[in-house]
Amino acid sequence: MVDVPDEGLRPVTVEDARRPKVDTSRALKVCPGIGLEHPDFTRQASIEKDLVSAWGPILSMWEGGASDEQLRFAGSSGGAASALAVYALERLEFRLVLHVGADPDAPYTNRTVVSKTRDEVLMRTGSRYAPASPCELLNVIEDAEGPCLFIGKPCDVAAAQKARRHRPNLDRNLALTVAFFCAGTPSTNGTLELLKSLGVSDVDDLGEVRYRGNGWPGDFVAKDRQGETAYSCSYDRSWGEVLSKHVQWRCKLCLDHTGEFADIAVGDPWYRPIQKGEMGSSLIVARTDFGKRCVETAIKDGALTALRVDPDLLPRSQPNLLRTRGEVWGRLLGTRLSGALAPTYRGLPSFGLWLSEVPVSRKLRSVLGAMRRCFRQRIAFKRANLR
Ligand SMILES: Cc1cc2nc3c(=O)[nH]c(=O)nc-3n(C[C@H](O)[C@H](O)[C@H](O)COP(=O)(O)OP(=O)(O)OC[C@H]3O[C@@H](n4cnc5c(N)ncnc54)[C@H](O)[C@@H]3O)c2cc1C
Repeated sequence: MVDVPDEGLRPVTVEDARRPKVDTSRALKVCPGIGLEHPDFTRQASIEKDLVSAWGPILSMWEGGASDEQLRFAGSSGGAASALAVYALERLEFRLVLHVGADPDAPYTNRTVVSKTRDEVLMRTGSRYAPASPCELLNVIEDAEGPCLFIGKPCDVAAAQKARRHRPNLDRNLALTVAFFCAGTPSTNGTLELLKSLGVSDVDDLGEVRYRGNGWPGDFVAKDRQGETAYSCSYDRSWGEVLSKHVQWRCKLCLDHTGEFADIAVGDPWYRPIQKGEMGSSLIVARTDFGKRCVETAIKDGALTALRVDPDLLPRSQPNLLRTRGEVWGRLLGTRLSGALAPTYRGLPSFGLWLSEVPVSRKLRSVLGAMRRCFRQRIAFKRANLR
């Protein structure tokens, strides 16, 4: 995977004398950007019928966080993902957690990491609003000698779930998946712009970059290698004013912003204003029977402190995601009209949301904007490379 600073991590194939032509068909088969498909959930009585079409399968929902105070403070929201990771390692005899942390050599970028202890999980708490590709180490799960946990964005988890259908050992060892809600990944240029605006002149001298966490939602904080100078700003400024403007085009064609393919999804309960100094809190969504059992036992065994809540809190917490999903329908149409390839979605309806949630002015913009982008960036002409 290679970082294209104004886009994101992109795969390159390495061709040599031994393999003059690399076969990419297996990779394309599992790429969530090619397509995603849900089964028909209508016969599953345990799934929330009213929410399934816009939010995916929901069996139960809780609000809360890690009982371990350090994890809860350091975590992005309530540290629920990290608490589940530690619980899986310490109580469920999982072998490892595959996820993402700051790259120690260039902490404004990410590295795919394997954690086996609570302290390693603690070190990797916090959402990192920069390109990451945890699927690149799925082979570690495949080769493990027991059950493993995978944490990632909705697209990372969807890719891992697709890959397991072709890889029996991965299927055997990938015991639990946790996804966090994601409105899109900003490119590396987003972080670089933010750092520059905060006065960082030499990114090579950075020893630490945290996007949030250490409080809820927590500030963006960068420190130099000596730990003497810190540059920081609020989450509203980092995400709201800079990073969100660098979300890559791929994410704008994504219909899954809430981890619909994971066993458990976690996100921010933005349905209420946060009080200053309030302890972090996560929405915890069980999407499969196994995910539900894991959350229930984690609560019973004291790893998570969480209360059951009405699943209606999900749309109330992320109302913007309904409009986002509707706009994707328009962008997919525009992309196809311009002759470019677009992801194929089955069982993730979005046309109804385009009709009901997207204001008239943005309806047209979603279609025409996508067409303009495809032509300007010659996306339409890149389709041959995908085949
Ligand atoms: C790009 C991005 C977009 C987001 N958009 C939304 C949104 O629209 N709505 C919302 O409610 N929340 C969003 N979040 C935040 C996230 O969903 C919440 O903070 C969530 O509640 C996780 O909190 P937690 O305290 O349980 O996680 P923690 O316990 O802090 O654990 C976070 C886990 O995520 C992993 N991780 C961090 N960054 C990445 C990454 N870039 N790729 C893969 N894995 C990573 C870490 O390795 C860690 O295991 C976004 C986060 C990111 C990185």
